[in-house]
Amino acid sequence: MSPKSVVITGANRGIGLGLVQEFVKDKNILHIIATVRDVEKATDLKAINDPHVHVLPLIVTCDKSIDSFVTKVEEIVGSDGLNLLVNNAGIAVKYLTKTKPNRSMIAEQLDVNTTSVVILTQKLLPLLTRAASKVSGDQLSVSRAAVITISSGLGSITENTTGSAVFDSLAYRMSKAAVNMFGRTLAIDLQDDHILVVNFCPGWVQTDMGGQEAMLTVEQSTSELVSSFNKLDNSHNGRYFQRNLTPFQF
Ligand code: NDP
Repeated sequence: MSPKSVVITGANRGIGLGLVQEFVKDKNILHIIATVRDVEKATDLKAINDPHVHVLPLIVTCDKSIDSFVTKVEEIVGSDGLNLLVNNAGIAVKYLTKTKPNRSMIAEQLDVNTTSVVILTQKLLPLLTRAASKVSGDQLSVSRAAVITISSGLGSITENTTGSAVFDSLAYRMSKAAVNMFGRTLAIDLQDDHILVVNFCPGWVQTDMGGQEAMLTVEQSTSELVSSFNKLDNSHNGRYFQRNLTPFQF
């Protein structure tokens, strides 16, 4: 079942934009809240021109920006609360083990992909809890309340046999491994609030980050992601999946 309201971060391009384009096809969704750093420049997103899409500014690394965003989300969703948060915004800082040590590059990577996901999720929790409380029983779903984070196969510890040379990915791998731990921990912590928490790898996708040689188009990845979101239930809580619901190893 689909959510009535959804927030997607980093929605002006790439996978975030593709997710908005998929959600727009679902006429049961009342509010698709798409965040961008610069509303003026979000031409592809604004071109969707659908009355259910709200384009809002959000810099995920800035607490002031998050606070004014949360206020606007509350105005939109009101007493219904927020059903689904999709933490998608991310960066990939090129950092190898043999890179000259640079503390600020690692900090920037972790700030966007990990710390900001934690802070934004925490600040939206009252609205997610409000939505979850509208339904009785223990059933979990994106139509009730859910936090989905777009992680990466590069964040899997078990699957890492190639080291940092793949996409110069030491700092990126660490940021996604950490956000996977956040997802697992949050799922346990929110059990009594009936909020579903799942992390997904979208596959290797043709975006500015993935490059044009990637295996999947944005549409191939995001259509499977959204279809998977709507199938999630209690059996998926706290886990990590590929875009097509194939279980992924932490
Ligand atoms: P893109 O580089 O195409 O897009 C990244 C998005 O994140 C942009 O909208 C960007 O906004 C936004 N963003 C970056 N930093 C911030 C910030 N500080 N505040 C707000 N928004 C920000 O990446 P993808 O679409 O490829 O990636 C989306 C997600 O999918 C990421 O989490 C990525 O790690 C993950 N992923 C991608 C894969 C791929 O193959 N493409 C593979 C596995 C995972 P702006 O335009 O303003 O910079």
